[in-house]
Amino acid sequence: MKARACSLDGHRDGGDTAKESGTQMNPVNSADRWSVYPPSVNLESEFDIDWIRSQFDFVNTGRIVTNNAASTQAPLPILHLTREVLRDYENVHRGQSQASQSTTMRFELAYDTIAAWINAPSRRNIVTYRNTTEAHNAVMYSLMTEFRDGDNVVTTMLEHNSNYVPWYALTEEILPRFGRRVERRLARFDPVTGALDLHHLTSLVDERTKLVCCTGASNFLGTKPPLDIVRAIADASGYVQPTGERRSLMLVDAAQLVPSTYTDVQALDVDYLSFSFHKMLAPFGVGVLYGKEHLLDHSLPFLFGGDMIAEGQVSPDLVEYNELPWKYAAGTPNIVGVVQSAQTLRLMIDLTADPGEASFFRSERPIPAHVVRRSMERIGRHTHGLTARALDRLSAVPGITIYGPPIGVVRSPLVAFNVEGWNPLDLATELDSRGVEARAGCHCATLAHHSLGLDPPASCRLSFALYNSTDDVDRACAAVLDATGRDGGSVSRSLRL
Ligand code: PLP
Repeated sequence: MKARACSLDGHRDGGDTAKESGTQMNPVNSADRWSVYPPSVNLESEFDIDWIRSQFDFVNTGRIVTNNAASTQAPLPILHLTREVLRDYENVHRGQSQASQSTTMRFELAYDTIAAWINAPSRRNIVTYRNTTEAHNAVMYSLMTEFRDGDNVVTTMLEHNSNYVPWYALTEEILPRFGRRVERRLARFDPVTGALDLHHLTSLVDERTKLVCCTGASNFLGTKPPLDIVRAIADASGYVQPTGERRSLMLVDAAQLVPSTYTDVQALDVDYLSFSFHKMLAPFGVGVLYGKEHLLDHSLPFLFGGDMIAEGQVSPDLVEYNELPWKYAAGTPNIVGVVQSAQTLRLMIDLTADPGEASFFRSERPIPAHVVRRSMERIGRHTHGLTARALDRLSAVPGITIYGPPIGVVRSPLVAFNVEGWNPLDLATELDSRGVEARAGCHCATLAHHSLGLDPPASCRLSFALYNSTDDVDRACAAVLDATGRDGGSVSRSLRL
């Protein structure tokens, strides 16, 4: 692929800021000890990775950012765009000024972009919250009044706490106070491969299962459960919903799925799906809940107040709610964040497009599904290649245990591991001192860590994004080898278990 001449928004200044400030980390040198790597994995053929990296300011600091499953870095064009948005912005749906009108238009168009990204029928299916966690809580509060005594909710041991603790709270703390007894059931996973135990899941779902909650991709094991089979299991329950449907609802936590995989909510036939933009190149602050229109129409909102009511339709005896999706937008929303997030999606298309193709960033052009699919497939192949390389190299580290699917089996772009004799938190600190940003802990996948019997319930994790290069992977893996002293390097005894 040909190199590109200039940045996406024509700004040439931003990339030098960190260089000038002299922020230089201490990256390890690229390792060449694994010189034999399968030639079939030609990682960067679809991208001009140098050009992509030039769109990110952090690159100039020397940081090796390999904690992307937690949060990704924001590109410079979004920072420049933010300055412009802030220059003439106003509240949305709350003013007659030009600024208010244009901000409202930008904000509403952002919903169309988000809907297009996941192939939702329209903006009416999109609710924005602060993050994935809030989206799950929103589903929980919306459905709270619908659970009947004797119902159950089924989730899995693979879940992030944000898709478990709300169901724990509902069944253990909230509904019992209303005298209602609802059971919480947890499907197991295979401790060796990390695969969801579909037989166990099937055995847990019955005619009293109102909701099945499942991750789209585990943030610890990298497992991607077969959502079509989970859907079929939920379909077969025969649970009678208040809408008359006879099946269990299905909520997919797609916080780790949407950033690396093309996700089509209609093809998946999910009822609810959540994700956070801070894991896909946008700044912090916006999460999405997709919901089927009839469910959002029928359910109670999670938050009540201004803008979620129909214009003028509030009296002492009757309040009428706004049309979708604004019924779920109580109070002033994160207007700038929503605009930034949608524009980041558009930018991702441009970053992964062939040179010379028409731009989507800053435009109002509708985004066809095949364009999103191609962009995400390219990102997926790139991050998959990086992950395969990391797995290959890390598996050469003596005493390492890598969790999740074996090499060659589909996994999201992350590798969690432990090295014998090392506390993962100490190891992550050692990696940081070598300029490599990893994450250690339970990654909020506490159930899975306990289920594997890890003591402490923690692992060290490297995770990859669009802007990572093979050099990042090599440096990160070399740092693991170096830090654990398996490469003849010195080992700080105090850091060992
Ligand atoms: N679900 C998964 C699988 C995650 O990885 C995360 C964050 O790491 C979350 C949910 C929570 O996302 P947020 O912190 O944006 O609410």
